[in-house]
Amino acid sequence: MTAENSTTATEAGWNFDNSYVQLPESLYARLNPVPVREPRLVVFNRLLAESLGLRPEALAGDEGAAIFAGNRIPAGAEPIAQAYAGHQFGSFTILGDGRAILLGEQITPGGERFDIQLKGSGRTPFSRRGDGRAALGPMLREYIISEAMHALGIPTTRSLAVVTTGEQVFRETPLPGAILTRVAASHIRVGTFEFLAAKGDLESIRALADYTISRHFPDLNGTENRFLALLYRVMERQAALVTKWLEVGFIHGVMNTDNMSLCGETIDYGPCAFLDTYDPATVFSSIDQSGRYAYGNQSQIVQWNLTRFAETLLPLLHEEQDQAIRLAQEAVSAFPEIFLRCRLAGIRAKLGLFTEESADLELIKELLNCMQQNHADYTNTFRDLAAETVAETALFRDAAFLKWQRRWQERLTRQPQSVEESRTLMRAQNPAVIPRNHRVEEALEAAVERGDFTVMAKLLEVLSQPYAERAEDDDYRSPPEPSARCYQTFCGT
Ligand code: AMP
Ligand code: MG
Repeated sequence: MTAENSTTATEAGWNFDNSYVQLPESLYARLNPVPVREPRLVVFNRLLAESLGLRPEALAGDEGAAIFAGNRIPAGAEPIAQAYAGHQFGSFTILGDGRAILLGEQITPGGERFDIQLKGSGRTPFSRRGDGRAALGPMLREYIISEAMHALGIPTTRSLAVVTTGEQVFRETPLPGAILTRVAASHIRVGTFEFLAAKGDLESIRALADYTISRHFPDLNGTENRFLALLYRVMERQAALVTKWLEVGFIHGVMNTDNMSLCGETIDYGPCAFLDTYDPATVFSSIDQSGRYAYGNQSQIVQWNLTRFAETLLPLLHEEQDQAIRLAQEAVSAFPEIFLRCRLAGIRAKLGLFTEESADLELIKELLNCMQQNHADYTNTFRDLAAETVAETALFRDAAFLKWQRRWQERLTRQPQSVEESRTLMRAQNPAVIPRNHRVEEALEAAVERGDFTVMAKLLEVLSQPYAERAEDDDYRSPPEPSARCYQTFCGT
């Protein structure tokens, strides 16, 4: 079977404009997704479809199944697999979309541009030894967590649809195959720059850097050293992003440079997971033996990744190499300060602080210490602090914590805002519900083992309003039973 062209593009609302294929040809390979046997649309994000200018009625049935499976190419799409490289756990490798096809860039009615990518769409020239396919469980997992991140207000790729393929994929066991339609502001990665830098292709790096500026940071056009400005902007976006991850207890799990998007969106949901009890050393990923990507290491790792990015830009920063190195070093070494600024602002808000005092950092550290000592639930502790009643947890009985709490309450009185205003701020900053690992597993099991998608639908509904404290969501706020606490995640391959 070969992919057919669709004649129904206008009815469905597709409006492609494919700027990436204007870039140097080494950055992509043109090919269609490999058609699948029996596509069936199992999850469809109607609200996202509408915001993209797509008409859900036209895509909810067979047409959507065929398109989101890659069996039918919507008019105007110019399918490609993107080339990139990356440092994986510190080692450099040439990679590329080994199981994904970018259909094209959808222009929304508001004029925004989004990549529409099929993940699990078959082999490409970059597949290496992989089968180009994806299993249903990991694709549903990406759908749930990316949509939860969006609802939490964290920049992220989105999930438009999941289709099952009617084919099996073979991992340790045979599993149902699936394809996820991912929507992203772009798929330009640190690894995309590294791919060109490894080839020593300076002209293409300049073209890609200019493309990145025009697509994501057009205000930098015309600045004195626009490439240095790009480096600083990417640093700021990453500082803001990782700050937000830390605030909600998110662990990405595989922060390789190929999984770091330059526009500052969370991308590539593999072994990611959320903290239950607070411990900065938490690692869920089965392959992260050394804890490189542990919760508390994420800000250092992002700086490491930014250093790799800065290296690719060196020839663009200054014509004299030692000057270029000086500018890059100066930039990257400013990262901890940029990060700390973001982190302090974020955590002050989590604690209901509107003003700044120099001892705030100490105050925050002490709370986190108490939480760690008492194995406190990360999410619920911050909600408990905003509550009017005293929580019945070990933490709230701990002497060191009670001492800390008095200090914090005094701190609250040293700002003009009322305690009620602080509580309102805290409730807006601290989610009541997050995608708890045991809840995500339960939804995946129902869908994958029993074909029951209602558990996932309910979970998605709860996660769509994470800051609302609805009595009916109470079950979704409970930490896992002790037996379910040894959670492990696996790369979604
Ligand atoms: P990831 O761990 O998903 O970020 O993927 C890392 C690299 O492995 C990327 O180049 C992917 O395209 C590639 N890859 C992952 N799974 C597969 C697969 N099943 N078949 C081919 N390539 C894959
Ligand atoms: Mg990846």
